[in-house]
Amino acid sequence: MREIENIVILTGAGISAESGLATFRGPDGLWEGHRVEDICTPQALARDPVLVQTFYDARRAALATVEPNAAHRALAKLDAEWPGELLIVTQNVDDLHERAGASRMLHMHGELKSALCRRCGGRSAWEATLIDGPTCPECASSGGLRPDIVFFGEMPYQMERIETALEDADLFVSIGTSGAVYPAAGFVQTARHYGARTLELNLDPSAGSHFFHETRIGPAGELVPAWVAEILS
Ligand code: NAD
Ligand code: ZN
Repeated sequence: MREIENIVILTGAGISAESGLATFRGPDGLWEGHRVEDICTPQALARDPVLVQTFYDARRAALATVEPNAAHRALAKLDAEWPGELLIVTQNVDDLHERAGASRMLHMHGELKSALCRRCGGRSAWEATLIDGPTCPECASSGGLRPDIVFFGEMPYQMERIETALEDADLFVSIGTSGAVYPAAGFVQTARHYGARTLELNLDPSAGSHFFHETRIGPAGELVPAWVAEILS
């Protein structure tokens, strides 16, 4: 086994579940009562902007009511102390990794606290609501701002940077993700192809569990701090 210097960590909704944010695919297959196709597509935004903007405005507001949990804090500690390369790639649109203190990270599916302008393409830090058609800070047009979220059918952010990190990784760790949403679900195979060791930490075995060298089953709030303590020792 080669020595571990470069680490890539993929996180999904499961890492934020213990903070009180619902995961995507609950037992009923709904995200907080809504069908995914009715909310997270460009078609839904065009057809029913009030529903989609209201939904994301509520999700953005909900961030003020939750806190990072032990798993976010453990990854922030790893980020601060790991001497080699490290990249946390999150599919989450919440801000709990950065609030825990992580900095070597990126949001591949966008962020609730960002607005994307359909007129100029600008991305602006955003705390308020979007339903009321506010003015774009970049181009000063009104009504063009949408949630800066990568909808189904849209291209995730920073794929080139992610690919490069996966090629250079000695260890790839997937945390709290169902392995159902591509391209993220394929990262384990890319990392493995280039020689990384692969580890999954999840509450249930994911769709792609068999691609990992090792799978540990349990809540992220317990598994992640234990794994971080292990790798830092
Ligand atoms: P998902 O809902 O499809 O899967 C969640 C996974 O987390 C499941 O495998 C489940 O077993 C696991 N899980 C649940 N509770 C856990 C816990 N306490 N500890 C460890 N694992 C736990 O989520 P996904 O794979 O991230 O993909 C769905 C998409 O949903 C992403 O694109 C993401 O943008 C979006 N999403 C984001 C948030 C958020 O930002 N917090 C919340 C819901 C959905
Ligand atoms: Zn604009």
